[in-house]
Amino acid sequence: MKIAVLSGDGIGPEIVTQAVRVLDVLRGDGLKLEMESGLMGGCAVDATGEPFPEATRSLVKHADAILLGAVGGPQYDSLPRPQRPERGLLDIRKSLNLFANLRPAVLYPELANASTLKSEVVAGLDILIVRELTGDIYFGEPRGIEVREGQRVGFNTMIYSESEIRRIAHIAFQAAQKRGRKLCSVDKMNVLECTQLWREVVIETSSEYPDVELTHMLVDNAAMQLVRNPRQFDVMVTGNIFGDILSDEASMLTGSIGMLPSASLDENNKGLYEPIHGSAPDIAGKDVANPLATILSLAMMMRYTFSQESVSERIEMAVKKVLSQGYRTSDIYESGMRRVGTAGMGDAVLANL
Ligand code: NAD
Repeated sequence: MKIAVLSGDGIGPEIVTQAVRVLDVLRGDGLKLEMESGLMGGCAVDATGEPFPEATRSLVKHADAILLGAVGGPQYDSLPRPQRPERGLLDIRKSLNLFANLRPAVLYPELANASTLKSEVVAGLDILIVRELTGDIYFGEPRGIEVREGQRVGFNTMIYSESEIRRIAHIAFQAAQKRGRKLCSVDKMNVLECTQLWREVVIETSSEYPDVELTHMLVDNAAMQLVRNPRQFDVMVTGNIFGDILSDEASMLTGSIGMLPSASLDENNKGLYEPIHGSAPDIAGKDVANPLATILSLAMMMRYTFSQESVSERIEMAVKKVLSQGYRTSDIYESGMRRVGTAGMGDAVLANL
């Protein structure tokens, strides 16, 4: 198992250090894994002038999985677009063809008060959003802003081929098979032909997965249902732009940005694993960032890239135990709990591992 480790910027190095400690324990217990570090984002710009330099390209190409902290920071915001750290993120997704973005939104019972929704609405929440990541209106051509009949018009193209829809549908059905066997496909087929095709292809694909219950929902209703009754969902699958919005909405139902991991996979389950949050420059270097989203990203890596379900469960169980023992970083702290910093949270996870 070759893992490329890209710490990135801001809190990235602090949270990735704790995840690497977890990998060290797993390796000590016999898991055959190799780790190699590379530069990505602002730190890469500082060292080489580019956010995704050639050496990192080669490293991630030859790795089976990539662990990423986060990239970006205010000092890079005035750089030209191709040099911005976030550009490195788009490049890595595109160059590795990471078309399937998996984002679980899980509310741990111990953190029920962190949500802005009533606890009876979100208690036990466990949703997986599968978002297509390399197509749709974000990449479709033609696109631009031009003058037509004396005024500026802006335009983009929403486009999906049936093969693009089919491959993300397979990922979603297979993910549902490993969970509650319910899949809700989200589209806007009443208005957009592109998503009418989406629905048709998802229905065609469903014949290969008779054990999964398939439903469909229009995106506006899905946005509403996510706050009205989110526990009705198991796995949701949708295109790039709807998934961008719905996955942020779903993750925030849990109220804890420092807890949520993500995976972006290619056709062979090679994957990029990262917390959903950014580089949090406001708290960088202060030993207060929550490393659990990054550690939970490793659990996803073990499950999706390496098919090591028991290792994955071992990591998730250690995190659950840490929470039930009352350890909390500042972002999830409530009075009466045991407040710890980034390294202290890492210690607690290791003790439970
Ligand atoms: P952010 O997610 O970095 O931070 C939002 C808020 O959440 C901040 O108050 C931060 O302190 C807090 N927070 C985030 N992660 C936390 C953690 N693990 N523990 C405790 N608190 C945490 O979003 P932002 O402030 O909008 O962006 C900061 C930088 O990160 C920007 O440069 C942005 O472009 C970049 N960014 C990168 C990624 C990525 O690398 N995938 C994603 C989003 C934003």
